[in-house]
Amino acid sequence: MSGHPRSAGAVPVRWLPDPTVTDTMITEQEIQELVAAATAARTLAYVPYSGYAVGAALRTDDGRIFAGCNVENASYGLTVCAERNAVFQAVAFGERAIQVVAVVTENGVTPCGACRQVLTEFNPQMTVIVADLAGGRRTYTLPDLLPDAFGPEHLQSAGAVPAQKP
Ligand SMILES: [Zn+2]
Repeated sequence: MSGHPRSAGAVPVRWLPDPTVTDTMITEQEIQELVAAATAARTLAYVPYSGYAVGAALRTDDGRIFAGCNVENASYGLTVCAERNAVFQAVAFGERAIQVVAVVTENGVTPCGACRQVLTEFNPQMTVIVADLAGGRRTYTLPDLLPDAFGPEHLQSAGAVPAQKP
């Protein structure tokens, strides 16, 4: 896949997302690929309590795709959403620059507030595609879903030292 401007050259790459980057160009084929991956992940959801299965798939700047499903727990509070599961998968494989995420549910709902916050951490301009099982699809950006979001830049402006990529 073509490199992203942020990864060009030998300049050390900070892991904090660059809020000035708004490159979310994605083709229809890539969208369909993401929705298919999210749909497949949804079939693996562990949802014995709610019965509400969710699948998510994201595409990184390097063109890699990571998917996740929601995983519930008997304690309820420890349940993890599909979107966060996919993000954590990506991070665990060394990817921190996420272009776009697709979320598939039976009725095509947007990510919950917690997931919006976690997605913002890895690209505040991220494209969010929401799809249902009937083929319906809507596209948002994170600023649509979480305006005036809190992010790492607020820690920096308060004098905190940002973490660096290992
Ligand atoms: Zn969520």
